[in-house]
Amino acid sequence: MKASLSTVLGWAEEIADRLGAPAGSTVDVEAADGPADAPGALVTLTFADGSSSGAHYDEELDGAEALALLADQLQEAVLEAVQGRPSPACPGHGHPAAARAVDGTACWVCPETGSVLRPVLD
Ligand SMILES: [Zn+2]
Repeated sequence: MKASLSTVLGWAEEIADRLGAPAGSTVDVEAADGPADAPGALVTLTFADGSSSGAHYDEELDGAEALALLADQLQEAVLEAVQGRPSPACPGHGHPAAARAVDGTACWVCPETGSVLRPVLD
């Protein structure tokens, strides 16, 4: 699903914020228009120490799939930055929740039981 860069930026900021990205983290978005890029937006999450991690919003995917994939990549970046603390925590389990498209909505779900914790975006 096509989305404007400012829309993707808003989503990425909300996702990073709710994942508990460390203080001082910033999110930037630019159009993915390089020859090797799938169409969409390149999202960069930069941490206070200057390290950064990239994610991609693939506009050729269904909207919920694209958002779940973006959330998954941002989660990976945040998990690395917080050194493995599960985020978002999966209640009663030691693992983090996983981003999945469920009935057309990107959600955080338990990777074991598949039960939905909450939508990726409110
Ligand atoms: Zn779980």
